[in-house]
Amino acid sequence: MRITIKAVTDSPAFPDQVDVVVIGGGTIDTAVTYELAKQGIAVALFEKGAIGDEQSGRN
Ligand SMILES: Cc1cc2nc3c(=O)[nH]c(=O)nc-3n(C[C@H](O)[C@H](O)[C@H](O)COP(=O)(O)OP(=O)(O)OC[C@H]3O[C@@H](n4cnc5c(N)ncnc54)[C@H](O)[C@@H]3O)c2cc1C
Repeated sequence: MRITIKAVTDSPAFPDQVDVVVIGGGTIDTAVTYELAKQGIAVALFEKGAIGDEQSGRN
């Protein structure tokens, strides 16, 4: 059974500068992004499809 994943809205604009770029929006990538952001590190996450829609949404 496939779960329904709540869609995440894109940011309206690209930041001018970040400290870290995360490629991919799976569970690992989003966890890393969240932890970095919590520490005040400027981070941008780029996902080619939808957040959590690949392996992380299927397991
Ligand atoms: C059917 C199934 C069952 C599983 N069962 C278990 C289990 O019981 N226990 C367990 O521990 N693990 C399980 N796993 C494995 C687990 O789901 C994965 O190890 C984990 O979700 C991987 O997370 P991830 O964030 O690395 O990858 P993903 O969830 O695959 O995320 C990677 C993301 O990167 C994006 N991406 C890729 N290339 C680019 C690009 N060039 N630019 C932008 N974005 C890009 C993809 O679209 C995707 O959203 C299972 C996996 C599957 C498929």
